[in-house]
Amino acid sequence: MIRRLLQRVFSGRTGKNKDPLIIPFQRHGVAAERISPCAGKVVAGLQEAGYSAFVVGGAVRDLLVDLEPKDYDVATSATPEQVKAVFRRSRIIGRRFRLVHVMCGQDTVEVSTFRGSVNGEGGGQMHDEHGRILRDNVFGTQAEDALRRDFTINALFYDPRSQEILDYCGGFDDLRKRVIRMIGVPDQRYREDPVRMLRAVRLAAKVGGHVEPRTREPIRELAPLLQNVPPARLFEEMLKLLLSGHATECLLQLRNEGLHHGVLPMLDVILEQPMGERFVMLALNKTDERVREGKGVSPAFLFAALLWHEVLAAWRSREAGGMRPVPALHEAMDEVVSAQVEKLAIPRRFTSDMKELWELQPRLLNRSGKRPYRLLEHPRLRAGYDFLLLRCESGEVESEIAQWWDDFMRGSEDQRASLLLPDSGPKRRRRRRKPAGAAEAAEEPAHDMADEPSAES
Ligand code: ATP
Ligand code: MG
Repeated sequence: MIRRLLQRVFSGRTGKNKDPLIIPFQRHGVAAERISPCAGKVVAGLQEAGYSAFVVGGAVRDLLVDLEPKDYDVATSATPEQVKAVFRRSRIIGRRFRLVHVMCGQDTVEVSTFRGSVNGEGGGQMHDEHGRILRDNVFGTQAEDALRRDFTINALFYDPRSQEILDYCGGFDDLRKRVIRMIGVPDQRYREDPVRMLRAVRLAAKVGGHVEPRTREPIRELAPLLQNVPPARLFEEMLKLLLSGHATECLLQLRNEGLHHGVLPMLDVILEQPMGERFVMLALNKTDERVREGKGVSPAFLFAALLWHEVLAAWRSREAGGMRPVPALHEAMDEVVSAQVEKLAIPRRFTSDMKELWELQPRLLNRSGKRPYRLLEHPRLRAGYDFLLLRCESGEVESEIAQWWDDFMRGSEDQRASLLLPDSGPKRRRRRRKPAGAAEAAEEPAHDMADEPSAES
């Protein structure tokens, strides 16, 4: 009852009104040419077929603040079947929400039919006992579609034909003020989908703004609801956050909001590593830097970095127990992967790359004989070297080693030969008989590693 009442009170402010504010090109300045050709083609195709269609959501938001949209969403009055009938290269996907993917060349645009009301007045939603939406696939009007979105800045519709923006929720003004404001009653909207808490923090960092107090206030109390979110969904949202170019800022902000300690396993792993803190922070800062420079970032590299000190600790403890370095490393990797990957829901597709990066680390410490030459042919050498750089910069490994690899990789044949360190063959055999627990110095295990067939790929 109270919730309904509050909703009615606040709805005026968040735009329950059916008529949108129409913002002409002269005010917003986003020319139709700025949207991707594929999105333009999809909207035009639908409009020509007699439906209404708009670019919507993140792309409109990003264009308004001069960011390059990551992906384009189109919202339309056409049903999925009708959309499919308009575009030859398209397919209907999704069970929970039925969407259409329209393909043009390499690009894909996601097309969704206007969806129904947030309040579930039409009975279109199913919730779990915490209020989380389990199903919501009822078609609705454009105004309803605006209101079921999360933040006002994400509910703007752009019509490339008229170059007008339709604003049902005050998102245009909020975006100018860089304010992240939840549509509707924040408490209820977080209960419907707790992932919105992560999105609020991420989007604030993305547009360089802040989460307005009423939207921010319930987060601390509702944070535990994140535990009910399917891990795979949480992973996807955390991945977006980590690759946003503002990972460090977002993670610290999430910690300020109380979103760790069992609530977000990923955050505990990242922010609660006394041993690896320097390393993890460096990895995150580097990732942010790369993303902002428009360079590619591999999620496997990032997760390998986030979990490196766990691997290191497990590896060392096995060696201390008398295990040889290579089997010890393999067991350590398996242990960390099976524990953390499950907890964090890291998809299997990343784990073999992560292991490959870890495996390369001791091998990169080896600078004598034929082994460095063999590594030159390793397809992942560059990534392995970048990882080594992080280890050097965090003080784990002598920086001289990274410099050596840099020289070795660039060098001519003669230069390479002169860089090689004297072979430590005989020493190696002696060390074999020593308890492997002594292999503490980073250089040590490397010599043994290269002799193990399993360490060669
Ligand atoms: P980005 O693509 O930069 O990560 P985005 O806002 O575009 O951000 P998407 O996941 O692409 O995020 O979602 C597209 C749009 O769908 C959003 O702008 C928003 O309107 C709506 N949306 C996404 N997630 C939610 C959610 N959890 N609750 C309500 N609406 C959402
Ligand atoms: Mg998007």
